[in-house]
Amino acid sequence: MNERYSRQVLFNGIGAEGQRRLLESRVLIVGCGALGTAHAESLARAGVGRLRIADRDFVEASNLQRQTMFTERDASERLPKAIAAANHIREINGEVEVEPEITDVNHSNIERLVQDCNVVMDGTDNFATRYLINDACVKHQVDWIYGAAVGSYGVTMTIQPHQTPCLRCVFEEAPPAAGAPTCDTAGVIMPIISVVSAVQVAEALKLLTGQNDNLHRSLMQFDVWRNEWRKINPGPPSPECPTCGLGNFATLDPASGDFAAVLCGRNAVQISPAQATRLNFEELAERLQVIGEVKFNDYLLRFQTGDFELTVFQDARSIIRGTSEIKTARSLYAKYIGN
Ligand SMILES: [Zn+2]
Repeated sequence: MNERYSRQVLFNGIGAEGQRRLLESRVLIVGCGALGTAHAESLARAGVGRLRIADRDFVEASNLQRQTMFTERDASERLPKAIAAANHIREINGEVEVEPEITDVNHSNIERLVQDCNVVMDGTDNFATRYLINDACVKHQVDWIYGAAVGSYGVTMTIQPHQTPCLRCVFEEAPPAAGAPTCDTAGVIMPIISVVSAVQVAEALKLLTGQNDNLHRSLMQFDVWRNEWRKINPGPPSPECPTCGLGNFATLDPASGDFAAVLCGRNAVQISPAQATRLNFEELAERLQVIGEVKFNDYLLRFQTGDFELTVFQDARSIIRGTSEIKTARSLYAKYIGN
């Protein structure tokens, strides 16, 4: 056994057999922000053999306060988060196979991303994507670990389809946006990210090494500022649950696809093309540079015009900054990128 993992192999819960299982595992991390970077770094150091990292965004200066692994250089180069994370993981542990996916995770790709994984980590910041993960994981019987943090508060739950309640059993509807703090209004501090991600990663290590008896089997809530720690028993899976009880996977239906999304706390909107396409950045840059400032690298093109900044990925998906109005973003997209 590799010297690198000696301390972990000495730990009773893992041992040589557990380490072998970690090295043979594949984990999907959905969303590589604060929670996702913490998952990625910890799992890479632990020797999880394959890490698939799906994220739709690029690194910015405001990420650096809590998104471990990312550096000022990643932000100044505006690297896609999936690529920046993959670069750092290769330096941390060259044995890990990293599979970066620069993509908006949605009904068209979630099943492909989830299917061949042993565990899925929730590093997202919204309930729409969590219901999507829940549907795909219940459908394909893949364990996943819900996690969320805002302000100084965080929550996590481990979901083993048909053995434990799924996300839809516990939250039949997304908690209402009004009144609920979001990163728009509340901000977030690093310590709660550390707490939630640590519990998620510990649960992942238990699942991957087959130590299911040690799972916490609850909805865990923490507030590191108010000093509250709570463990709620969610009961058994609900036979009435549309997802795990009745097998209705509504979010996987192509009709559920939404091509525009307001990005949390960013004064930005994401627009996805209605049809799959691949952009030629050189041609696009030539067309746009007569009306504004254009820069591009291998992964994305940035176009500044007036108060708006458009970041365009190769698949024509765009993040439009300077507005949180979908209508405004759509019209800028139509004007500069196409349909
Ligand atoms: Zn359920």
